Amino acid sequence: EQEIKKPAMETEMISQLFDTVLVLDFGSQYTHLITRRLRELNIYSEMLPCTQKIADLSFKPKGVILSGGPYSVYAPDAPHVDPAVFDLGVPILGVCYGLQEIAWNNGKDVSAGERREYGHSVVRVTKHTGLAAHVDRLFEGLSHEEMVAWMSHGDKLSKLPEGFLVIAETDNAPFAGIAHKEKELYGIQFHPEVTHTPKGTHLIKNFAVNICGCKQEWTMDRFVETEIERIRALVGPTSEVIGAVSGGVDSTVAAKLMHEAIGDRFHAILVDNGVMRLNECQIVKETLTKGLGVNLDVVDASEEFLTKLKGVEDPEKKRKIIGNTFIEVFQREAAKITSRSGAHVEFLLQGTLYPDVIESISFKGPSQTIKTHHNVGGLLENMHLKLIEPLRELFKDEVRELGTNLGIPEDLVWRHPFPGPGIAIRILGEVTPEQIDIARKADNIFIEEIKAAGLYRKISQAFAALLPVRAVGVMGDQRVYDQIVALRAVETTDYMTADWFDFDGKFLRRVATRIVNEVPGVCRVVYDVTQKPPGTIEFQ
Ligand code: GLN
Repeated sequence: EQEIKKPAMETEMISQLFDTVLVLDFGSQYTHLITRRLRELNIYSEMLPCTQKIADLSFKPKGVILSGGPYSVYAPDAPHVDPAVFDLGVPILGVCYGLQEIAWNNGKDVSAGERREYGHSVVRVTKHTGLAAHVDRLFEGLSHEEMVAWMSHGDKLSKLPEGFLVIAETDNAPFAGIAHKEKELYGIQFHPEVTHTPKGTHLIKNFAVNICGCKQEWTMDRFVETEIERIRALVGPTSEVIGAVSGGVDSTVAAKLMHEAIGDRFHAILVDNGVMRLNECQIVKETLTKGLGVNLDVVDASEEFLTKLKGVEDPEKKRKIIGNTFIEVFQREAAKITSRSGAHVEFLLQGTLYPDVIESISFKGPSQTIKTHHNVGGLLENMHLKLIEPLRELFKDEVRELGTNLGIPEDLVWRHPFPGPGIAIRILGEVTPEQIDIARKADNIFIEEIKAAGLYRKISQAFAALLPVRAVGVMGDQRVYDQIVALRAVETTDYMTADWFDFDGKFLRRVATRIVNEVPGVCRVVYDVTQKPPGTIEFQ
């Protein structure tokens, strides 16, 4: 039998298709925000570790931003940028550590300051009209007002580097902004990427658009066009792709994108693990097939999962059992598709997002260890599949916008995250069909009321958990002895820290009444008011 030829065409990278600002990361906790701000300005940006060899870059950026970082440039083990970056011939902006790095490369006049500077400062912009007009471009439109900027540094430039001018100063930092007299080389001591610098995005735009000349073409409409072409080129004319869908935003958007690109040569598999939300499997099935036209197989493996979960109370064990069983079931189903006569399944779809990529490449210092993601390694090897990750360049808000562009219903696009092990980890204690039933019904009432009150999008994640301890109650003059439902609803931007949502009393009263009345087996409802940290968002 003849082997199918691999597509001859190498796919182009997004950074080759759109004007791109490269952000070199020195390990600041805000580096990814620089990338985000640029994307919000419709300018494509990618982040790479500061150790990136410039000769190995696969694209030519329109400009480079050197990020902040926790190190001191003068320390013996401090990270330094490949000096070739200064010969790229594109504008460079240094932010905090990045500014100090530019100074270090131009005379090494950086030292520890007597005063550390954290928090707000007022930046005064220094104009140089006539002398070297380009140096004023970074603060263009910002020069007539005093600019509030957020600082977080202990080191300072002890001297203005040779060939540079001061373009901004604060009471404490005479070199809050510098620019080279001839070259397009800029540095600022403050952080324009954080929201505490209200005009920061304006400054970033000045750099990217006015100085680097980036076209603001990074939109999800343009992305869809180029991405569909890229997927087609990568998959080729005959190969097929399989992938798991869960009903979550990422897997749904990825699946719809694949469907747009290669139609029924993309096979989605939905594994019903028995611990999905109330009616979820049915809803997901209908949305994906009838609504979005995706070629989908639904596997009801709930018996298999629940049998394995019998008697298990330990949360880590639950997670492991569900994770492993998922891989087994998925592999079995995928094998069915792969072994059809004439099938040429070559790829496995993953809904990896850019924050995962950033997490695995961001610079963590000399002892950096690269984190490997997910459990798909074995799957790829066993099944001889290659990975396809069409969302790996996107942030979550971009994925949502993309989903809307692709016609995915609002409800799904804005869905709260739902853990892989499902409500199994929201039932404290053993997961039995009876407990699942209770947890599902209570959760459904809570979410229904949240949506009815128009609060769903204000809340980042909400659910009901079932506490398998008994409390006394009186219902219909009868003494009852039933379980407790705990409601959890949090607001967060990054899921690293979270605060509980401040419902009004009326709302909570309504939800509690409904749950106690409508869900047999529950006689008490409590609201979780623990912040993260120390609490986690989920209970297990
Ligand atoms: N570590 C350097 C300093 O303290 C840079 C800090 C930063 O980039 N935020 O000045």
